[in-house]
Amino acid sequence: MKNIISYSSLPKFNLITPSSLKEALELLDQYKNEAQLLAGGTDLLIELRHRLIQPKVVINLKMIPELQTIRITEQELKIGAVTPIIEVLTIPIIKEEYLALYQSLADLADEILRYRATIGGNIGTSSPAADSAASLYVLDAQINISSLAKGQRTVPINQFFTGVKRNLLSSDEIITSISIPRPKKGSRSSFKKMKRSSEDLALVGVACFHNEKKTCLSYTAMAPTPLLIDITDNIVREKKELDEAKFRDIWDIITPILRPIDDIRASKKYRMHMAEMITRTILKEVLE
Ligand SMILES: Cc1cc2nc3c(=O)[nH]c(=O)nc-3n(C[C@H](O)[C@H](O)[C@H](O)COP(=O)(O)OP(=O)(O)OC[C@H]3O[C@@H](n4cnc5c(N)ncnc54)[C@H](O)[C@@H]3O)c2cc1C
Repeated sequence: MKNIISYSSLPKFNLITPSSLKEALELLDQYKNEAQLLAGGTDLLIELRHRLIQPKVVINLKMIPELQTIRITEQELKIGAVTPIIEVLTIPIIKEEYLALYQSLADLADEILRYRATIGGNIGTSSPAADSAASLYVLDAQINISSLAKGQRTVPINQFFTGVKRNLLSSDEIITSISIPRPKKGSRSSFKKMKRSSEDLALVGVACFHNEKKTCLSYTAMAPTPLLIDITDNIVREKKELDEAKFRDIWDIITPILRPIDDIRASKKYRMHMAEMITRTILKEVLE
């Protein structure tokens, strides 16, 4: 394993604070791989301090109003990528219609960190344990991305993560917002995770979504990227109650898809055990 040295100071870089998205995209287009984007900095500053990255330029996105707007229409909820998590939590519709997202953000780190950290940064880091990812997967979120050269594109979240801390952004692209369709009446969702302390990443995270047409689960920290598993055929079409035999049928489908690792936080065996317990609880809750 690579030895990580934590320095007390940051490496030298040029900090630039654009005031519009256009300006930020021009800067990124100019510096490309020599630049890093800064939102809340809760992940980025650690990487800088450990010298895991040494950019020439850091582009601070925090002063760009258009990246911090929240829009609700009949079709969707659109959250600006640089909106602090604490602000996302204050929108009533999040708790009413997107409970899994509310629960995942309300349990992300602690309150002080939630004032700084952003939802775009959580996706941007692309950790397999990113708390917002499981709920965004089951809620069918789309990631809106911009670059100077290619303009705008939209990618379903389940195509965005490509590996551990890897995603499909190219070096000139910025996540501008996250769009989530308004769930049909009667839809229910939930998120639960297991962690060692409020300052720790999830050992296992599970989100579930259910309505009369669809049932799916998403897992974080159980593979190099978050996973989405559709169990509509087992739940909606069969219309059977979730007794233990039914749960075992579903768990038999899920088990081979999960690929947890042994690491400093937990063993594979423990993660699998916790994933099974949480899956049973969350399914009962969402289907009741
Ligand atoms: C003590 C502690 C506890 C934590 N606990 C949790 C936890 O419980 N759950 C959890 O999921 N995470 C946790 N984290 C990780 C971190 O807080 C989150 O991932 C947070 O959401 C990152 O957001 P940020 O705005 O601070 O991102 P930054 O650190 O500013 O950026 C993170 C990465 O995303 C990129 N980026 C940022 N914004 C954009 C954008 N708009 N477009 C493209 N790329 C972008 C940056 O270049 C960088 O690579 C914790 C971190 C710490 C230090």
